Amino acid sequence: MIVIGAGPAGYVAAIRCAQLGMKTACIDEWRDHQGVPALGGTCLNAGCIPSKALLESSEFYARLREAAAHHGIVAGEVALDVPAMMARKDTVVHDLTEGIATLFRSNGIDWIQGHGRLLPERKVHVTLHGGDERTLAAGHVILATGSLPVAIEAAPLHADRIVDSSGALEWTSVPRRLGIIGAGVIGLELGSVWRRLGAEVTLLEAQTVFLAMADQQLTRSALVLFRKQALDIRLGALVKSTRLTDDGVVIEYQDADGMHTLAVDRLVVAVGRTPCTRGLASAEAGLLLDEGGFIHVDEHCATNLPGVYAIGDAVRGPMLAHKGSEEGIAVAERIAGQSPEVNYERIASVIYTQPEIAWVGKTEEALKQAGIDYRSGVFPFLASGRARAMHETDGMVKVLSDAATDRVLGVHILGSHASELIGQAVIAMEFDGSSEDIARTVFAHPTLSEALHEAALAVGKRALHLLKPRRS
Ligand code: FAD
Ligand code: AMP
Repeated sequence: MIVIGAGPAGYVAAIRCAQLGMKTACIDEWRDHQGVPALGGTCLNAGCIPSKALLESSEFYARLREAAAHHGIVAGEVALDVPAMMARKDTVVHDLTEGIATLFRSNGIDWIQGHGRLLPERKVHVTLHGGDERTLAAGHVILATGSLPVAIEAAPLHADRIVDSSGALEWTSVPRRLGIIGAGVIGLELGSVWRRLGAEVTLLEAQTVFLAMADQQLTRSALVLFRKQALDIRLGALVKSTRLTDDGVVIEYQDADGMHTLAVDRLVVAVGRTPCTRGLASAEAGLLLDEGGFIHVDEHCATNLPGVYAIGDAVRGPMLAHKGSEEGIAVAERIAGQSPEVNYERIASVIYTQPEIAWVGKTEEALKQAGIDYRSGVFPFLASGRARAMHETDGMVKVLSDAATDRVLGVHILGSHASELIGQAVIAMEFDGSSEDIARTVFAHPTLSEALHEAALAVGKRALHLLKPRRS
């Protein structure tokens, strides 16, 4: 087995292949700031992990400054050491990437440090970091080359003044005025980090609908909460051009009222990601790509070439680490003769803002559009004892179930720890549970999870801690 790419899709696939007895090599070209090869791909080195490390640190700081007093804690003067915060983040990343190297060693996986290129007949040409070249051959090849930030002509990157998401995870000082192009998942998470650390943050988003992929009842509330945190989110604002000045960047954008300019000290371009597949295969290999550069695969991640599979951000589906990992496991098991399935309908999405937004399954808008008759139960955290004890009362849980069968079709959570709570909904849905099943499950008290219980009860109009609707 040869796996190209050691992100969460590729490295997990390699481990599962080795577990199943395949002699496995994993080729990866990633190098850290010091030029040292590192496993883990975007997720560990420049994505999920460093962003969550900084979200945690910045939230800690914001709580000390703003929430401590509410709990009767006098924190005194709270100071910021951004280089130390970055160093902690780098240690977290380093420890985890080293952990994968240890897992590779313990599973007997050969880590090949360099660039891989697919040739015909499941051969792979490798250019090692040192410059040496070699050609490997295998019975099966898994392509897991991931994705890269989308670049736009309107905002070409420039040193540390106009950066992509990777750059915005490395700054050692807080910009006074920060602009972000794109109020999607990554823009909101990075905006939250730097806003909490003191920057004035403006997000320019071309779409007029905020977070169009999520349930709009929750995103409407989230938009109000984020704006209260002084995240200046401007919707319907299409960035047309940027101009560097002596000490910053002037952005020109267009909205319904016409053209505007915005002066910032630094700018982040967070307008999405694109598959990393250019030049991945020689022309003779004949690897088929979809529009947009994604590797064409069937429902089992098989490409058009016999014995060649592709997984993760490089193929269709949500660009999420856990989606890629599950595809990697499924491909390894299918090659070993098993019959695994990835349930694409049950993949949770999370936005790690405060409060967090997490969901699985269909939104209310999607159900309406599909003409599916549904019932909805909503429970606000304001009515949760644990949320009150935590002083985390923003948000709600919403359960959507089929009107005829009561099968849960979607669960949407806006609230503290939504990223953890959503796992319970994923399990319920994976077992084809009904809202009645959740309603009849005994939840520990006092927990935030009780809000999921109450939302399920609310589907049947029997939530216990909600006021009865007034009759007119
Ligand atoms: P990648 O992680 O991109 O790894 C691909 C690897 O292949 C890289 O190491 C690359 O160097 C290597 N490679 C590419 N081409 C070659 C080649 N020809 N030869 C050798 N090596 C090659 N997702 C979540 O689920 N949760 C989150 O909280 C989250 N937060 C994110 C935050 C940020 C700021 C960003 C940018 C992304 C975030 N994501 C998150 C998305 C997540 O990082 C990706 O979905 C995930 O990394 C995709 O995994 P992958 O294995 O397909 O590819
Ligand atoms: P995501 O795909 O979640 O990372 O979000 C990227 C966001 O960037 C999308 O919501 C796009 O609408 C937005 N976007 C893309 N190009 C521009 C642009 N030129 N100006 C403003 N927003 C943009």
